Amino acid sequence: MRIGIYGGTFNPPHQGHMLAARIALEALDLDRLILIPTAQPPHKDLPAGSPTAEDRLAMTNIAADNLLWPAISVSDLELRRAGRSYTADTIEALHRQYPDDELWFLMGADMFLSLQNWHEPERIMACAGIAGFARAADQEEELERQAELLRQKYQARVKVLRLHDTAEISSTQLREMLLQDKGWEYLVPAVRGYILMHGLYGTHADLRHLDLEDLRACSYSMVKAKRLAHIRGTEEEAVRLARRWGGDEELARKAGILHDCTKYLNLEEQLQLCEKYGIVLDELEQKAVKLLHAKTGAAIARHVFGMPEAICSAIFWHTTGKADMSLLEKILYMADYVEPNRRFDEVEELRRLAYSDLDAAVLRGCELSIVDMEERGQPVHRNTLEARDWLREH
Ligand code: ATP
Ligand code: MG
Repeated sequence: MRIGIYGGTFNPPHQGHMLAARIALEALDLDRLILIPTAQPPHKDLPAGSPTAEDRLAMTNIAADNLLWPAISVSDLELRRAGRSYTADTIEALHRQYPDDELWFLMGADMFLSLQNWHEPERIMACAGIAGFARAADQEEELERQAELLRQKYQARVKVLRLHDTAEISSTQLREMLLQDKGWEYLVPAVRGYILMHGLYGTHADLRHLDLEDLRACSYSMVKAKRLAHIRGTEEEAVRLARRWGGDEELARKAGILHDCTKYLNLEEQLQLCEKYGIVLDELEQKAVKLLHAKTGAAIARHVFGMPEAICSAIFWHTTGKADMSLLEKILYMADYVEPNRRFDEVEELRRLAYSDLDAAVLRGCELSIVDMEERGQPVHRNTLEARDWLREH
C-alpha cells in the first residue's frame, strides 16, 4: 500500500489543504491519505485564542469527510501524545504501524524548503519519501533545487508535485480575514458552520438569527457529508411543494435545511439531548435511535436556532407522521420521502401524487412505511398508524 501522511496545524483547515490533499492522492497514486493535526508545532506556538486541539481535530475531520473520499482519514496520533510534536516521532510510529507499506510525507513549500533544519530530519527521510508541493505559482524551480539537495544529503526519496492549481491562502491570513467576517469562501460550508456554532476565531454569530447560507452551514457541520445531497434535495423539494400547495416557502426551506441535523448522534447523545430539552419518550423511542433524530432535531431547531413552532413541529413529526398534520408537516414529510435522490420502486408514483393530492400522498407514504417496517420485522410507531387511520377517515 502507498500511504500519504499530511500533517499540519489545520487552524483552520482550508481550501489550500484540501486542494493539496486531492492532488497528492492522484499524483502519488495513494491508497490512503492520513491527515494528522499536530498538537503543538515545534517551530511555532499556536496563536493566542486558538481553538482547542479537539476543535481543530473536529474541523479536520469535517473537512476530510467533505472530500467524500473513502481513502482519506484523520489521525489523532499527535494530539494524544504529550509535549511537543516532532514529525520524526510521528513518522517512525507510522512506519512501525505500517512496516510493509510505502510512506510519503506531504508538505507545502514553506515546510519543504526548511526540512533540513527540522528536528532530526534524517529520521523522517529514513522512513518516508518526501513529497513537496508549491503553495504559490512559480515556486517549482526552487522546489526542484531543494529536492536535489535532500536527495544528496540524506539519500532521500523526494518528489516535487505539480499542482495545476494553487490556493494562495494560509490559515494565518484566513484567521485575520474571519475576524472581519471575510474569507469564508476558503472553507467548506460545514467547517464554516462548525466555526460559527462554536464561536471560533472571534466570530460571534447570533445562531438564532442566521441567514440561510449560515443556517445551511451549521446544519451541514453536524452531519456526514454523504447526507448533504439528501438534505439539499429535501430543502428544494419542500420549497416546490410549498409553492404547489400555498404553504410558506421560507418555513418549508428552513425545515428542510434542519430536518436531519441530529441524524448522526448516537443513542447516548440523543438521550442526553432528550433529557436536556425535556423530551418525553415512549418505550419504542427509547430504543429506536432512528426515531429520535426527529425529536432532537426539533429541539435543536427551537433552542439553538430559534426556529418558530411551525418548523419545529414539522421536524418533530417528519419521520413518523401523526394524525391531523399541518400543511408544513405534510410538506416536510413528503419532501423527505420523494426528494430527487430517493430511489425505491414506488417513488415516481408517490412524487406524482405529492403534487396532485397531498393527503393521498401522505397516506400512501404512511402505508408504504408500515409495510416496509412489517416486512423487516420491526415495530411500527403508533403515530404512523394514527396518521394512516386519520387520513383514511378524512
Ligand atoms: P498557518 O498560517 O497557521 O501556518 P497554514 O495555512 O500554513 O497555516 P498549516 O496547517 O501550517 O497551514 O499547513 C499544513 C500543511 O499544508 C503544510 O505542509 C503547508 O505547507 C500546507 N499548506 C497550507 N496551506 C496550503 C496551500 N494554500 N496550498 C498548498 N499547501 C498548503
Ligand atoms: Mg504554515
